[in-house]
Amino acid sequence: MKDNELKSGDLQEPGLPSHFIREIVTEDLKAGKNNGAVVTRFPPEPNGYLHLGHAKSICLNFGLAEEFKGRCHLRFDDTNPTKEEVEYIDSIKEDVRWLGFDWGDHLYFASDYFGKLYEYAVQLIKKGKAYVCSLSAAEMREYRGTLTEPGKESPYRNRPVEENLDLFERMKAGEFEEGTHVLRAKIDMTSGNLNMRDPVMFRILKAEHHRTGNAWCIYPMYDYAHCVSDSVEGITHSICTLEFEDHRPLYDWFLDELEVACHPQQIEFARLNLSYTVMSKRKFLKLVGEGHVSGWDDPRMPTLSGIRRRGYTPSSIRNFCERIGVAKRNSFVDFALLEHCIREELNRTAPRFMAVLRPLKVVILNYPEGQTEELSAVNNPEDASMGSRMVPFSRVLYIEEEDFQENPPKQFFRLAPGREVRLRYAYFITCVHVVKDETTGRITELHCTYDPATRGGDAPDNRKVKATLHWVSAQHAVDAEVRLYDHLFASPNPADEKECPDFLGCLNPKSLEVLPSAKIEPGLARAAKGERFQFERQGYFCVDPVDSTEGHPVFNRIVSLKDSYAKIKK
Ligand code: ATP
Ligand code: MG
Repeated sequence: MKDNELKSGDLQEPGLPSHFIREIVTEDLKAGKNNGAVVTRFPPEPNGYLHLGHAKSICLNFGLAEEFKGRCHLRFDDTNPTKEEVEYIDSIKEDVRWLGFDWGDHLYFASDYFGKLYEYAVQLIKKGKAYVCSLSAAEMREYRGTLTEPGKESPYRNRPVEENLDLFERMKAGEFEEGTHVLRAKIDMTSGNLNMRDPVMFRILKAEHHRTGNAWCIYPMYDYAHCVSDSVEGITHSICTLEFEDHRPLYDWFLDELEVACHPQQIEFARLNLSYTVMSKRKFLKLVGEGHVSGWDDPRMPTLSGIRRRGYTPSSIRNFCERIGVAKRNSFVDFALLEHCIREELNRTAPRFMAVLRPLKVVILNYPEGQTEELSAVNNPEDASMGSRMVPFSRVLYIEEEDFQENPPKQFFRLAPGREVRLRYAYFITCVHVVKDETTGRITELHCTYDPATRGGDAPDNRKVKATLHWVSAQHAVDAEVRLYDHLFASPNPADEKECPDFLGCLNPKSLEVLPSAKIEPGLARAAKGERFQFERQGYFCVDPVDSTEGHPVFNRIVSLKDSYAKIKK
């Protein structure tokens, strides 16, 4: 047994569910395939920002490499110069790093292989396995046939090798206009698999490439470039999503015909679909381009930059990716599971504070004017090591507007006229008077009394109250803006064309609520960008890294406290 021969049982962290790809890799190692190497890659096209679906693929590819002591390459599939931008490359690298993965020295670009891809194409032409076709795009479509009808052979299919070599060289030299010629693989126009009907390998594109500049005016197609890139890099397991299953015969055909030394195994898995959102760069481009969101990193976006800004942690995303598993069948994952993962983590790690999102002023009539005292508050009851802090209390406070009702319905146990409630870590108070704006009738302030004997939140006579409210001291509170988010889409499946013929029509008009005048505990004033907290009774929040400034803190609600996933599980 070789040193690097491993059994899957040895590798799994306890509780980590196994999956079929892990089994395949384990079997390959046992059988001594690939000399015991495991080399995977994550191959994004730099035409947009990464999303949660990509996170699944990143965790799978980098995760397997980590687990089997192999390596994972980051390779940009930059074969389409017209849609790609350097901004996307930078953001993709940042996102992969943020998730906690490292490609080391193994950063590659498909464009690194343009020369190789050209040489290999010449090799195929010489073998009589590729030809220059001069049909127009429309004609090619017509000749291609359909799922039920075989295709027709191109009249250019039997061009002599010499003529193909000459034309291909001149295509490269820029002698022809776009659309006049393409290089095609010579496979089988009657194949039941449309991908095998003489697929295009190279097309003419007179476009500047962000890396190769104007060196090339022919560019390889994805199917041809991808398998060759995998082979050149010595990839052992080429893991991709299910829609490429029908492309696998072509992947294998190219590598077999080229007789390459390294022939990776393509394995397909089901992509991640998440409820209440879409998972397509094309749709994100539209959302961003038309201003439906503030940008790729809008905290409502399922992009990694969006959820990062929202306040999700990398570990919560990795945890989520582990829990959803890897399967062969497409399925839907409930958004609530994602929320459950971050909630579970922050419940343990986030310090708790009090913040009043919609303030209502409370004056404690029997509390001496000008007096202030400090009350001890626990930072996280789940973790005593997180300690406690002092919270200032004074005569004028703010409580949550919704925690008071003048005419409370039966099920409302919070503050009401004549009723006593507890202020968290502080005192029992009783509402004795309601002050209203004379013209609008709106409640502007409450007059209460407090019981000094209840300091710390307990009555010596064991008298009970039915509610505990959070609060802040008015003179000590810091002003903040709070942003509450809901699903970006109102429909559970906005990608379904029946449910949402135009996905923009299913946008949730209430996905963002801005509360401009929240009042937060003074201890939160110095919170750093990106820091995460629990606001008691309100959820988990993160200091917005973009819009937050020294005198104007902005908090994003990551997730509320109500765990709908726990309910689904039952
Ligand atoms: P989109 O459909 O959003 O444009 P894409 O598949 O075109 O995505 P690529 O940049 O080509 O995006 O994807 C890089 C890798 O991420 C591919 O291996 C792809 O299979 C994988 N991937 C993309 N979307 C998902 C998803 N929803 N779930 C799992 N893996 C995905
Ligand atoms: Mg793609």
